Amino acid sequence: MTPDSLKRLRDWFKANAAELPWRLADLDAPRDPYAVWISETMLQQTQVSTVKDYFIRWMERFPDIETLAKADEAEVFQYWQGLGYYSRARNILKTAKIVAALQHKMPETRKELEALPGIGAYTAGAILSLAYHKREAILDGNLVRIFSRLYELDFLPTDKSSANKNCTEIYWGYAREVADSPKAYMHNEALMELGRTVCKTKSPLCKTCPLHKECRAFLDGRTEEFPPTQKRTEKNWHGTVLVVESADEKILAVNGGQKFLDGQLALPHFESTRGATVGIPAKAEDYINIDKVESVEYCGTFRHNITIHKIECDILHVRLATKAKAMLITNKFTNTWIEKAKVFETFANSFSLKALKKVF
Ligand code: SF4
Repeated sequence: MTPDSLKRLRDWFKANAAELPWRLADLDAPRDPYAVWISETMLQQTQVSTVKDYFIRWMERFPDIETLAKADEAEVFQYWQGLGYYSRARNILKTAKIVAALQHKMPETRKELEALPGIGAYTAGAILSLAYHKREAILDGNLVRIFSRLYELDFLPTDKSSANKNCTEIYWGYAREVADSPKAYMHNEALMELGRTVCKTKSPLCKTCPLHKECRAFLDGRTEEFPPTQKRTEKNWHGTVLVVESADEKILAVNGGQKFLDGQLALPHFESTRGATVGIPAKAEDYINIDKVESVEYCGTFRHNITIHKIECDILHVRLATKAKAMLITNKFTNTWIEKAKVFETFANSFSLKALKKVF
C-alpha cells in the first residue's frame, strides 16, 4: 500500500472507529497490553457485538494480570462460558500465572509473547502494535480478506496446494508492509475495522472504502471471487464413550484432556476401532480402576459432528461395584461425579447427551 492509501485508511478510521469497551477514545494512545490480549483472544471466532459484554464483565472481575493469576479455573471458565473454545480460557489463566510470577507485565517481544500458552503470531502482533506501538504486523481473517481482494490473491495463507510456494509468507509480507510505520498500531486496527464493517465477507461496501481506488478485485468487478473459499477437509473419527455408573448411582464426568469438548464437562471418550464393543477397553484405565468394574454393556453407536470431525461413537455403560467416593479414580483427568438423576441438566453438550439418552 502506498503512503497515500495508508493516510486515507487512517483518516477513514479516525472518522469511523466504533466505540468499543477495549478501545480508548484517543486512538493514538497506547493501550493496556492486558486488555488487548483479553479482547483479542475473545474476538477470535466471536462477533464483536457478543464480545463486548463478556469483556466488560471479565475486566470488572479480573482487572489485571495479578487478579486473574489468583483465580481458579472454574471461575475463569464461568466468565468464559458461552465464548466456546475453553482451551483459550485455560491458556489465558496459565499465561497469567506465568506472567504474574515473572514480571507482572506482558512481555514486549514477539519471541517472549509467542512462547506463552495460547499466544500465537496474531495475538502477539496485536499486543505489540496496539499496546506497545511497535512496528509489528498482524494477520487475522479481516486482513486476509482485504489483502486477497486488494491484490487478487486467489489462495489463502493456509493453502498448501497453490502454485505460489509460500502462501503464508506472501500474506505476512503485505501485513509487514502495512506495519512498517510508526503508525503500525493504527494501520493494523484500521484494517481490522475495515474488514469487519466495510470489506465484509458478503457484499463489501466498496464505494465507502478508502482503498477502492487501488483495489484490484473492485476495479475488476470480482470482489465476490476473493478470498477463495476454504476447502474443508472432513475427518472421520471413531471412538468409545463411557457412561460410568457407580454403585450409588453417580455418573463419571471429565473436564478437559479429551479429544473433544475441552474445558467442558463431558463423558470420558477416546479413539477406538470399530466393533470393539465387548468387555472393558484398556483405555478405560485412564479414568477408573477397572478391577472395580461389575458389568459392561454396549448400548449402541451414535453419530455426531464437531467442527470438521465426523464422529461415530460406541457407547459402553460401565457399572461399578463400589460407591463413587470409594472409587479410586486414576487422576489422569479432572474428574467429577454427577448424580444420575441430574445428568440431563448438568451436561451441556449434545455429544454427552446423545450417549446418555441411549443408556437411560
Ligand atoms: S474496495 Fe471493496 S473489496 Fe476492495 S478492499 Fe475496499 S471494501 Fe474490500
